[in-house]
Amino acid sequence: MLDANIKKQLDTYLQNIVNPIEITVSVDESAKAKELLNLCQEIAGLNDKISLKTLTDGSERTPSMAIAPVGEKPRVRFAGIPMGHEFTSLVLALLQSGGYPSKADAELIEQARQLQGEFHFETYISLSCQNCPDVVQALNLMAILNPNVTSVMIDGALFQEEVTERQIMAVPTVLLNGKPFGQGRMTLKEILSKVDSGAAQREAAALSEKDPYDVLIVGGGPAGAAAAIYAARKGIRTGIVAERFGGQVMDTVGIENFISVNYTEGPKLVASLEQHVKEYEVDIMDNQRAKKATS
Ligand SMILES: Cc1cc2nc3c(=O)[nH]c(=O)nc-3n(C[C@H](O)[C@H](O)[C@H](O)COP(=O)(O)OP(=O)(O)OC[C@H]3O[C@@H](n4cnc5c(N)ncnc54)[C@H](O)[C@@H]3O)c2cc1C
Repeated sequence: MLDANIKKQLDTYLQNIVNPIEITVSVDESAKAKELLNLCQEIAGLNDKISLKTLTDGSERTPSMAIAPVGEKPRVRFAGIPMGHEFTSLVLALLQSGGYPSKADAELIEQARQLQGEFHFETYISLSCQNCPDVVQALNLMAILNPNVTSVMIDGALFQEEVTERQIMAVPTVLLNGKPFGQGRMTLKEILSKVDSGAAQREAAALSEKDPYDVLIVGGGPAGAAAAIYAARKGIRTGIVAERFGGQVMDTVGIENFISVNYTEGPKLVASLEQHVKEYEVDIMDNQRAKKATS
């Protein structure tokens, strides 16, 4: 299933696993289930901190694989075979479940750990979707960090009845506790903002404490970010209200001929825009926080 080169690279990555993990693979007699079992056996064969258990009772989506620290109930699951663009999601889930720290912002990690309530995320993807892995990886990380969260990636191509029944029209589509939650690329920060209502209240209170803005720009795409930077450079107290910082660029992988840049990628460009805006002490807030704040 894995070629020699990928196996070698994976072997190197998996050496970062600190604590033992278990893969539970749910299989039947189908060819796809055999393929998934084969993949899981190859992975488990690479590292003695990884053990493998097989389920054939049909209690979970089949074929699927779940990953968890040994002795814990799995909270991260892949329904289908996480190859293609989701292979990185699989590798990260193995590493992070095994105690390898995420590179996500420390504040976001703490926010995910502190989330109260029950959150069961189901993410419909396709293996050729470039926007899907970010969403799967953010939700998997939340599930690894917080015992109240579970995350399952579902390859729509293998679970077409569900896709039809739940009227999934695009990927990624995320359901939370069985209800529509969102579509398209979403960052960990955006997902946390949507589910952590306490955070909106806390941030709105902090905003209310600040002096009023001279200029409040609505929109956080390239145009809004540029307007904010130019205003703030002149010493004007500036804020940005945006449903989604980054705008359309968040949905783009390859960007060509963006002003002064021959080629870049959406997430890279948004990260650099955000850093630039913050250097000029421009506050970025979403509509919910802006509405709740009083100044
Ligand atoms: C798939 C794709 C590929 C692309 N490739 C390229 C490329 O290669 N090169 C290139 O130069 N361009 C490319 N573009 C176009 C480029 O992304 C856009 O031209 C650019 O993002 C426009 O910037 P903008 O700031 O005007 O608007 P947008 O990026 O659309 O930003 C709008 C902002 O307004 C916010 N907003 C909207 N309504 C509200 C509301 N009611 N309340 C609060 N906030 C709101 C949004 O959340 C967002 O922050 C591509 C676009 C896409 C979708």
